[in-house]
Amino acid sequence: MSGYRLMAVHAHPDDESSKGAATMARYAREGNRVRVVTLTGGERGDILNPAMDLPGNRERMSELRIEEMAEAARILGVEHEWLGFVDSGLPEGDPKPPLPEDSFALVPLDVAVEPLVRAIREFKPHVMTTYDENGGYPHPDHIRCHEVSMAAFEAAADPERYPDAGEPWEVAKIYYNHGFIRKRMLLFQEEYDRRGEEFPLAEWLKKWKTEHGDTMARVTTQIECGAYFPVRDDALRAHATQIDPNGSFFAVSVDVQQKVWPTEEFELARTRVQATLPENDLFAGIAAPDLAAADVRSGHDGIDDSKDYPQ
Ligand SMILES: [Zn+2]
Repeated sequence: MSGYRLMAVHAHPDDESSKGAATMARYAREGNRVRVVTLTGGERGDILNPAMDLPGNRERMSELRIEEMAEAARILGVEHEWLGFVDSGLPEGDPKPPLPEDSFALVPLDVAVEPLVRAIREFKPHVMTTYDENGGYPHPDHIRCHEVSMAAFEAAADPERYPDAGEPWEVAKIYYNHGFIRKRMLLFQEEYDRRGEEFPLAEWLKKWKTEHGDTMARVTTQIECGAYFPVRDDALRAHATQIDPNGSFFAVSVDVQQKVWPTEEFELARTRVQATLPENDLFAGIAAPDLAAADVRSGHDGIDDSKDYPQ
């Protein structure tokens, strides 16, 4: 299956590499167009990798994050578009301080939706991905990313909304990314136990709050993409200021992940086509694109094949 278009909407640069990245790498290499839309510039991100806490880097944060994002997109083999909003930062303290005035999360919804509607009508995705109503993680920009994506999914199809932002386009399906799955962690732990090795995230797993159950109950769609986990990890490392190469993202060996849980998880949030659940393909139920007429580029264009990635 090729010639489809997938648009992944994310709050900050680096979110695309930690949520659904191996899925995107797979679809891109199979000859589909994949475009990441990043809502904010990540300007208020801290330096989370001690090795990158170098003189001058804090002052150059915006610039560094643009460079990091370009490298991650190249590694994943995806197109990339910035929407130009300003990172709200993660407010900390009790009570939490107010968000800075220029924050994305404070932009009125109708204003924030317009550039995404324009991006959708221009790219014409068959499928979009975004976060669930909790943001997947309680950052104000992640929750806003959900609200803006869902509103844009509706508005892009409506000729009466944003008439100056292009011809209406109906996205067939929109999904939520689901990364925090307890069952997955438990299976990783079992595999480490079986090997007689210490599970590196044991402490973290013990602290996992279970009162809301497991997100796995919401998952409708699992995408086989274990072969692309090394690509995902390289894309993550490209966000050098944000991702500590010795941190928890890389704690569980790729070999264990590929053996025990070689998929990424999504929840079908809305669909305009008939869907049969569960699914193993984000484009399931969507008519094959007319390859002759469509603006299709080879999935291999611009993709770095110098490394030993699966094809
Ligand atoms: Zn984020």
